[in-house]
Amino acid sequence: MHDFQQRYQQICQHVRQTQRLAAAAEVLSWDEHTYMPPEAGPYRAEQLQLLAGLVHQRRTDPDWGAQLEELAAWAEEHRPGEPETVNLLRLRRDWRRQKRLPQELVEELAHTTSRAQQVWAESRPRNDWNAFRPWLEKVLKLKRQQAEALGYQQHIYDALLEDYEPGATTAQVRAVLEPLGESLRQLVQRIADSPVKTAPGLLHRHWPRSEQEKLGCFVAEQLGFSFRRGRLDVTAHPFCTRLGPHDVRITTRYDEQFFPSAFFSILHEAGHGLYEQGLPAQEYGLPLGDSVSLGMHESQSRLWENHVGRSLAFWRWCFPKARQHFPQALADVSLEEFHRAVNHVEPSLVRVEADEVTYNLHILVRFELEQELLTGQLAVADLPEAWNARYEHYLGVQVPDVARGVMQDVHWSAGLVGYFPTYSLGNLYAAQLMEAAAREVGPLEEQWSRGEFAPLLEWMRQHVHHHGRRYDPAELIQQATGSPPRAEPLLEYLHGRFGAIYQL
Ligand code: ZN
Repeated sequence: MHDFQQRYQQICQHVRQTQRLAAAAEVLSWDEHTYMPPEAGPYRAEQLQLLAGLVHQRRTDPDWGAQLEELAAWAEEHRPGEPETVNLLRLRRDWRRQKRLPQELVEELAHTTSRAQQVWAESRPRNDWNAFRPWLEKVLKLKRQQAEALGYQQHIYDALLEDYEPGATTAQVRAVLEPLGESLRQLVQRIADSPVKTAPGLLHRHWPRSEQEKLGCFVAEQLGFSFRRGRLDVTAHPFCTRLGPHDVRITTRYDEQFFPSAFFSILHEAGHGLYEQGLPAQEYGLPLGDSVSLGMHESQSRLWENHVGRSLAFWRWCFPKARQHFPQALADVSLEEFHRAVNHVEPSLVRVEADEVTYNLHILVRFELEQELLTGQLAVADLPEAWNARYEHYLGVQVPDVARGVMQDVHWSAGLVGYFPTYSLGNLYAAQLMEAAAREVGPLEEQWSRGEFAPLLEWMRQHVHHHGRRYDPAELIQQATGSPPRAEPLLEYLHGRFGAIYQL
């Protein structure tokens, strides 16, 4: 094909233009969650709806799709593995998927989930399950229709999982997550039986907001987050978003009565931000400039937040600095006490407040239940009872009400079914990547205790960030670590860290 390059550029030009629109919507959405005054909401929603419609139209444009099909088929045969071919095949996969969804279903889902989220937000504080239940039933019915339209080979859940973790199947994810649950339950029990008790109380002292901000920004920058290509702002539920090839926004919330809230969310979001800043900027908008999956994204945030940010080595470097910012709160606290406090383990009711050991048990409950809901094996009416029974089984806690039980997360009301396991996959990938990095980079902890994070970041850049979406997540993990996704490195890491703290 003599005009391959020219035709390829035309395909890309269309995609890059669509991305300009999508990024404009992202700016409006970022502003909505950070600075927008409350009464500006309705007009903002109209703007976002218009832009979302334009973006969807461009992504499913039949003329463009026909050109893409033709060029991708040719490139697949004649130029396998070339960067252009990778972009074309990924674009084709996305296009074919989008195209399978009938327009009415897309619109009904958007409308129903928007209403369901409002009902969820109103009824949760009142513990009103009965008000929410019919909406969850509607959402699940539409998600089943969506899964059938998208198609799947083995399990209906596969069809939805594909949106968040491309190439992963329900069977594969179960094979790694289910054995993890049993091992974690045992570890939680051993920690509960340990004579060593950690004291998180010292974290509830007074931590002036301006000092939290200074320390958080300083640490994010030391990890490698560029404030010339990014910003940190304030929001209710922290997130990270990319508004352009050189514009990554991270957010946090400050609690002057609880140190970890802002500090670890800054590290977490900076980890997401480092991934976004490490993606090839010249491919922005194209698959090679995009992240692999939610699970891989979460691996990057978790490894900076937990593996690095909650390690003793990190605090050897950071604690003297924290003392300068908080001389009163930390006057009578030792490095070791502080490190134990930020690693306190205790089974609890609410996922977003969970520690590293119990976190994946919260995910397992949701992963099991949403499969059963989707297949119809479990009726929505029986969900609260099933939820409570599983919290008792996995975490040994009694759920007192639906607000702290089955209604605690926004995900299902928003139609995000199949999303939860990516949090655990992120933890799994993080441990595998850290194990491989330690093998190849050398004594990481020694480096952290001197405030040197560049060697670890460089390893992630090379093995994860630079590839964009070239590989599916499982392939990328295999390439980077030499093994398929597996739970052992996570268990070894947790046993290592918490075994030392709780003297197991
Ligand atoms: Zn995250």
